[in-house]
Amino acid sequence: MINRIGVLTSGGDAPGMNAAVRSVVRAAINEGISVSGIRDGFLGMHQDRIVDLDRADVNDIITRGGTFLGTARFTAFKEESVRREAIENLNKRNIDALVLIGGDGTYTGALRLHEMGIRCIGVPATIDNDVHGTEFSIGFDTAVNNIMQNMDRLRDTSSSHHRVTIVEVMGRHCGDLAMVGGIAGGADYIIAPELEFKKEDLFTKISQAFAAGKRHALICLCENMVNADTLASELEATTGIECRATVLGHIQRGGSPTAYDRVLASRLGDYAVRLLIDGVYGKCVGVEGGILIATDFASAIETPKLSRIREYNCLSNKIS
Ligand code: ATP
Repeated sequence: MINRIGVLTSGGDAPGMNAAVRSVVRAAINEGISVSGIRDGFLGMHQDRIVDLDRADVNDIITRGGTFLGTARFTAFKEESVRREAIENLNKRNIDALVLIGGDGTYTGALRLHEMGIRCIGVPATIDNDVHGTEFSIGFDTAVNNIMQNMDRLRDTSSSHHRVTIVEVMGRHCGDLAMVGGIAGGADYIIAPELEFKKEDLFTKISQAFAAGKRHALICLCENMVNADTLASELEATTGIECRATVLGHIQRGGSPTAYDRVLASRLGDYAVRLLIDGVYGKCVGVEGGILIATDFASAIETPKLSRIREYNCLSNKIS
């Protein structure tokens, strides 16, 4: 029997986290369960910064990016003694179960809490789409749209100056943002961990395409592969074509969540509460082929973080 659920957001912020919190609060209250909001993730749990959340507290947050609860990176939570102190705060407030909204680091923290007897359900929220147990994480679609809109802007200036423009996007070690954002933004070439990349191949293709009359090109680059400015200098030196690099950075994470992210967050938040009510925990929720699924934390964490997108055919690494 669950009487009070604690909800937190943790790791990097992602648009749609607020929609997920809203959904958890409303689903729980509808079932007569009280909700506590834990500020700044595991840090706030440890520091006992916990507030009651009512229906009205989540009014008007579905449109807002970021997370109104706050988030933090709190490495001390890896220590069992720190987690034990945090659990004391949950017990003091009669919190029976937790919904933890974040990425794989958050899931690891949740698994450790689960092993210490706390009922936990994870909800995937990270723009990188690098959590397993779901096809899409909350925030990914909004970030893809941000990338697309920024690539549209860069296209204007790139085409006017007849340049090659390299656009570096986030993703950590997962190429989903580069591949999906790149396709949407009409990139001529995508550099992602899942795709074979040879600099010489890129330089040759650019040279040939410009020799054949191409006037400008957009390259979408996943972070942590090569330095964007260095690649731009090398491309310019090798091909003689002007090349500029733009690192989109945190701009990708901001803004009002898309309809897709709001709906995904609403479904997953509601599902998390229903699982807890049904006595299911130690799992993260997700969506696969449009269907809601639940996966053990351990198996979601252990799976490598590469993209699960298998349809690369529409990628445009054949510059023409
Ligand atoms: P993102 O993908 O956006 O970075 P994330 O959830 O992976 O999100 P992290 O900073 O890696 O973000 O993890 C969030 C928090 O989870 C950490 O700040 C820490 O408090 C907790 N955490 C991470 N790893 C562990 C671990 N091994 N044991 C206990 N807690 C952990």
